[in-house]
Amino acid sequence: MANEIAFTTLPHPAPTPAAERAAALANPGFGMVYSDHMVVIDWSEDKGWHNAVVCPFAPIPMHPASAVLHYAQEIFEGLKAYRHADGSIALFRPEANAQRFNASAERLAMPTLPEETFVESIRQLLAVDGDWFPTVEGGSLYLRPFMIATEAFLGVRPAKEYKYILIASPAGNYFKSGAPAVSIWVSDYTRAAPGGTGAAKCGGNYAASLVPTKEAFALGHDQVLFLDAAEHKWIEELGGMNLFFVFDDGTIRTPPLTGTILPGITRDSLLALAREEGLDVVEEPYSLDQWEADAQSGKLVEAFACGTAAVVTPVAKVEGRKVNFTIGSGGPGQLTQKLKDRLTSIQRGTHPDQHGWVVKV
Ligand SMILES: *Cc1c(COP(=O)(O)O)cnc(C)c1O
Repeated sequence: MANEIAFTTLPHPAPTPAAERAAALANPGFGMVYSDHMVVIDWSEDKGWHNAVVCPFAPIPMHPASAVLHYAQEIFEGLKAYRHADGSIALFRPEANAQRFNASAERLAMPTLPEETFVESIRQLLAVDGDWFPTVEGGSLYLRPFMIATEAFLGVRPAKEYKYILIASPAGNYFKSGAPAVSIWVSDYTRAAPGGTGAAKCGGNYAASLVPTKEAFALGHDQVLFLDAAEHKWIEELGGMNLFFVFDDGTIRTPPLTGTILPGITRDSLLALAREEGLDVVEEPYSLDQWEADAQSGKLVEAFACGTAAVVTPVAKVEGRKVNFTIGSGGPGQLTQKLKDRLTSIQRGTHPDQHGWVVKV
């Protein structure tokens, strides 16, 4: 189905000077630099989605009573655009992000956006900001679509007005020196309970993860691990990444999607690639105690976290109130590296895409 909403482009009257842009693209970091334009689409109860514009990147004027500022009615997505060697621009499974965006919207009582319009908004932004790709090795243009409740009303009910917005941020390697193995802290806080919003990509989940994250940093760790809310026994995920475990018998395991875990697109893609590698893929619960026992016995040989931003990150060390152990040699394992290479080479167009994952814009 084609996108049915017409976009109007309002070019930036004073785009970033070429030299300034080149400097930013040579050393973009992550989430600090933004391209010259953004997409905004309004929604209201009577008009539905309307007024789709590609406009200069600028602050969003908002009424102080806008619902998002009070009750956190907000969702977001994160995906990357890649510049392939032949000069073309590629997205990775953008329709999966569009579907998840709508699943999140439904959980937060927000309107859904036609998937074609979601993908078209990306095409429209890349059409004007195609010269914002980083020039560094491993760089990409990180895309951040999000939706906020803009209705000015302090009563508690789903808002009647929303804005969908898309911004783009050139990004270097998430970790400066490739992917170092990370150390993770097992939190006593929980991220998501059954029936909650754990499977939705909403800002509120992240707000609640910041105290545990701060705690992890203060204790010298890089990331926080959350266990299930009911028994505090089963491994769920990190603050913003899914987890995988690799065993010495050729099994790879990841926690199942039971509603409290964010259904990562990287997770789903790696499951497919692992099956193709002939691994025995298991989506079953795994307890923290078992993880420690398996790491100590040598049965567990590798563990890694995955997500769009950092792609695949090996886990070297795990510490919590009741556990303290290291994994393998403490560095990235062979299979972790192999799966990472397979995925990134498809995304970057250096390996043929046999899955129909790559979408050229
Ligand atoms: C976005 C996100 C992930 C990873 O999802 P990808 O689609 O692979 O980027 C994992 N966990 C949480 C909590 C997330 O918000």
